[in-house]
Amino acid sequence: MRQVAIYGKGGIGKSTTTQNTVAALAEAGAKIMVVGCDPKADSTRLLLNGLCQRTVLDTLREEGDDIDLDDILKPGFKGTRCVESGGPEPGVGCAGRGIITSINLLESLGAYTSELDYVFYDVLGDVVCGGFAMPIREGKAEEIYIVASGELMALYAANNISKGIQKYATSGKVRLGGIICNSRKVDNEYALLKAFAEELGSQLIHFVPRDNIVQRAEIHKKTVIDFDPAADQAGEYRQLAKAISENKMFVIPKPMTQDRLEELMMQHGFLDAIA
Ligand code: ATP
Ligand code: MG
Repeated sequence: MRQVAIYGKGGIGKSTTTQNTVAALAEAGAKIMVVGCDPKADSTRLLLNGLCQRTVLDTLREEGDDIDLDDILKPGFKGTRCVESGGPEPGVGCAGRGIITSINLLESLGAYTSELDYVFYDVLGDVVCGGFAMPIREGKAEEIYIVASGELMALYAANNISKGIQKYATSGKVRLGGIICNSRKVDNEYALLKAFAEELGSQLIHFVPRDNIVQRAEIHKKTVIDFDPAADQAGEYRQLAKAISENKMFVIPKPMTQDRLEELMMQHGFLDAIA
């Protein structure tokens, strides 16, 4: 069983990319559990064709400890198993602790069965906040992909997340599997992201184009794979899924300084603008 976590700056496209990748893997026959680690509980909406009705933390609050796996694990697209850990009441408690409560409960209820090929964690926020590093800290997710784009803040966040991975990699088995570019149509974005990934000692595992079909599918509460399997964008997610399934490159990342990051942007990102 491979345990994969997807990180990246807020709003970069983690949940969309994760669910489309999972849908592509499931379509190819993989058995997958998706664990949403975001209090918004929208990590499985496109797989479930609607928002998860009750999160793990809601269920715990309402029913106490006497919970069946079926109460929290919902069947989604092509047999994917979907869980949302949920969040504490707004303004109270630590969301990170909620994530670990959920993971522990899933373990004790036997959700991590040996027939699973993958567990995917869709994690909100920046790993520099300890709570959201939980899946890594607890030794659950060993394989991390970072979603980024050619925008400075997305690369800044990706570099910070790499610092977090580096910190936990020395004491555990967590490794960076690659950078996923979710395009924002920035100048020379492919070259910039490739250079950024290589500077980290990693790889650009796939360049996902920006395409409005993602929004159209989202309005219909579906992944693109489900909504329009013949669309070009569905093919892109299948390529990403294949690259992840065949990936052999797992590294301890080498984060860069802010100066070096900005230098990379000048070298690659703005070539056209400067010329
Ligand atoms: P958060 O940090 O809030 O959890 P996120 O990183 O999970 O955000 P998403 O919710 O997946 O981001 O995506 C944000 C928006 O970007 C969504 O409305 C989604 O439809 C859109 N989006 C993501 N990827 C693409 C793409 N390749 N092309 C077009 N739109 C996209
Ligand atoms: Mg999200």
